[in-house]
Amino acid sequence: MTILLLGSGGREHAFAWKMLQSPLCEKLFVAPGNAGTAAIATNVAISPTDFDALKLFVQENQVNMVVVGPEDPLVKGIFDYFQKDPQLSSIPVIGPSQLGAQLEGSKEFAKEFLMRHAIPTAAYDSFTAETVENGCAFLETLQPPYVLKADGLAAGKGVLIIQDLEEAKQELRNMLVHQKFGAASAKVVIEEFLDGIELSCFVLTDGKSYKILPTAKDYKRIGEGDTGLNTGGMGAISPVPYVDAVLMEKIETRIVKPTIDGFQKDGIPYKGFVFIGLINVNNEPIVIEYNVRMGDPETEVVIPRLKTDLVELFLAVADQRLNEIELEVDPRSAATVMVVSGGYPEDFEKGKVISGLENVTDSIVFHAGTKLEQNQVVTNGGRVLAITSYGTDFESATKKSYQNIDQLDFDKMYFRKDIGNDLK
Ligand code: AMP
Repeated sequence: MTILLLGSGGREHAFAWKMLQSPLCEKLFVAPGNAGTAAIATNVAISPTDFDALKLFVQENQVNMVVVGPEDPLVKGIFDYFQKDPQLSSIPVIGPSQLGAQLEGSKEFAKEFLMRHAIPTAAYDSFTAETVENGCAFLETLQPPYVLKADGLAAGKGVLIIQDLEEAKQELRNMLVHQKFGAASAKVVIEEFLDGIELSCFVLTDGKSYKILPTAKDYKRIGEGDTGLNTGGMGAISPVPYVDAVLMEKIETRIVKPTIDGFQKDGIPYKGFVFIGLINVNNEPIVIEYNVRMGDPETEVVIPRLKTDLVELFLAVADQRLNEIELEVDPRSAATVMVVSGGYPEDFEKGKVISGLENVTDSIVFHAGTKLEQNQVVTNGGRVLAITSYGTDFESATKKSYQNIDQLDFDKMYFRKDIGNDLK
């Protein structure tokens, strides 16, 4: 098969690495890719949201399958674009329809879906500029802290958690009336605060049946001890030691199954990943968000633990016969540590030469923000490399990643030295 993978992060490098292990994958293109994907596949300089350019490329290169990494093309409707075009409709797109992608594209849509299918979620209401005063009155009925969520995609920044009532009212006005997050905050969901431990559940579905992938936990903050600004993610481990069989059973029966059944009841075409963000409140899992793609950096630990052929899984998703496939998981733990540009997630410089990549042994280097410049690998983003290792437990896996990071260097390189420490 010839496969086109969309995206340019560590997630996509991990997908590419895994798909190329499949005897079914003869040729792999990545649009736009990074220096890591360039080393193992063919990068194509097309934006994942330029559907017309993708169409031309797919036709000229006899592509048999499109795998979508990030949410943007999904929310913009790439699945439907292919399905509605008679010249493209036979080419499967791994990802949900535009309607399904609304689970991530609109917090209100997600909350309504959760309520309609009686899936546990925090109490909420949603407001617009016209109803801002009702929103303020609703805040008065809640206990602090107050959770305000911009309805639309806001690059991971659209959720505010505020202690003070007056400040919460002010921020609500900023979002609704002064468009703090642009069109994304034309609507705001106000939600009850849930106090508990966060965890993520990853599911691959063909719209009828599903496979639950290995659990993972990521580390969002820039600073050690989970302090400082939020980032895309500074590291991850899999499996999550505190998720036992009892909790997993609750997650499956109360959340995963009703979600997939909900797609069928609502007539939502969905052939791709569902990433369910949960908070475990006194051993009761409650949904705080859906994402319609895999997480990054969680992919860099989840995918290396999959023993099943990923292309075979994607073909089964396309043909709606996922129920026929047995998922095989590596019993070892995996950990990944993100190496980032100094200054990230605020201002940082690009174009720094990365040295020592050839000295990494016994870890997998997944590239994120990198590119090739005059045959050298240079930094090209905030998150630069994800260093993934296996171990008998997450402690030995993280230790191996840290030993290998010692081999690497670039100007102003930074990484968190405490990935997994909270679980020891
Ligand atoms: P979201 O984009 O909905 O996942 O929200 C971003 C972050 O805000 C989550 O990872 C949680 O840490 C936090 N969060 C979201 N909703 C809630 C809630 N209802 N209660 C407590 N924390 C929340």
